[in-house]
Amino acid sequence: MKVLVLNCGSSSVKFQLVETDEALAAAGKDHALAKGLVENIGGAAMLRYEAEGKRPVRETEEILEHKIAVERALGLLTRGDVGVLRDRGEIEAVGHRVVHGGERFKTSVRIDDEVLDGIEDCFELAPLHNPPNVKGYRAARDLLGAAPHVAVFDTSFHQTMPPEAFLYGLPYVLYQRHGIRRYGFHGTSHRFVSQRLAHLLGRTPDDPGLRLVTCHLGNGCSVAAIRGGRSQDTSMGFTPLEGLVMGTRSGDLDPAIVLHVMGKEELGVGEANALLNKHSGLLGLSGVSNDMRTLLAADAEGNERARAAVDVFCYRLRKYLAAYVGVLGGADAVAFAGGIGENAPAVRARSVRGLDAVGIAVDPKRNESARGTEGEISPEGASARVFVVPTNEELLIARDTYRIVAGLPPA
Ligand code: ADP
Repeated sequence: MKVLVLNCGSSSVKFQLVETDEALAAAGKDHALAKGLVENIGGAAMLRYEAEGKRPVRETEEILEHKIAVERALGLLTRGDVGVLRDRGEIEAVGHRVVHGGERFKTSVRIDDEVLDGIEDCFELAPLHNPPNVKGYRAARDLLGAAPHVAVFDTSFHQTMPPEAFLYGLPYVLYQRHGIRRYGFHGTSHRFVSQRLAHLLGRTPDDPGLRLVTCHLGNGCSVAAIRGGRSQDTSMGFTPLEGLVMGTRSGDLDPAIVLHVMGKEELGVGEANALLNKHSGLLGLSGVSNDMRTLLAADAEGNERARAAVDVFCYRLRKYLAAYVGVLGGADAVAFAGGIGENAPAVRARSVRGLDAVGIAVDPKRNESARGTEGEISPEGASARVFVVPTNEELLIARDTYRIVAGLPPA
């Protein structure tokens, strides 16, 4: 089945056309036929696109709304010189990444009017993310006629967290009235990576005894503790701001700091929000960059603030790793995924330093050689095996979409 996967952000549309079905997925042979990105919607937008065996496309064009961006994506997929489809009618289903499903959506679902209402009810919880997701859905629905649409939520994998993991130490009434609790994000990535990790261990993902810790380290970063294929805890919370230090997000901090700094610097709510989400994390600490590559290079050249930023990043991750081994009562395996997790051996090594006590270590040679490829990096005979597992959220969105449209139970 040819599935269009759409990931619509506030000013961007990412898309992939994926060929998948049950047999292809079981053999790990399903894959993207084409992928692309429209950035900076609302102004001079940049289109990037590449398809198997075709020349890559880079174009700029004034694009003011998501619907035009989706139209352009469909145009590229069907364009004579670079397209992979003769006609957009060949798209059999559309899978949408939806950031927030609240407590209502515990699995991926086919989108109908009731589901759409449910996604819109979650706008309050994700005011920046869910509205563009819905814009993308409406655009694709208008442009693609009869194709079925499926929503795959970042939050749903973590809906198995028990109350002791998802409740904050706040008045319970705030949970009841406003849904203030930990939801967790990156669920599609943690699910994909944990399923792959189970496979690498020769176990089934829902083996009740299987204890996994997955680290998704990209621009946003999170860790998850997973038992028997079910998320027990994860580092992001009510929003994707909690937990690890990220490219531009602070991660965990004393909440009193926010009140204190708002007073001292005379910040409004919007400015405080920008401070924590856009000017903090690796960028804020280093004053150099939010990009781990740049920071590792600056660190190697002796830039002390770059070094401090990477140290804080790795130390925070180390604390979470040890904590999640505690949550699970031991770990069978740990996975590193995302741009940093897959490509930065130095970060992996610095993050597990001293964790031999909880059974986690990396073999220096294996760690160095695993760059962007799947592979084991722990020493022979380690109690917790450590792997690099490249994530692929779009592939899982396509697989879920296929299964739902084909009437199959979730994988
Ligand atoms: P997103 O979360 O936006 O999908 P990615 O998963 O692509 O982002 O991760 C982006 C991060 O990965 C950036 O910090 C980037 O510097 C880092 N990264 C990518 N390649 C490397 C590399 N070779 N070495 C170190 N960091 C890398």
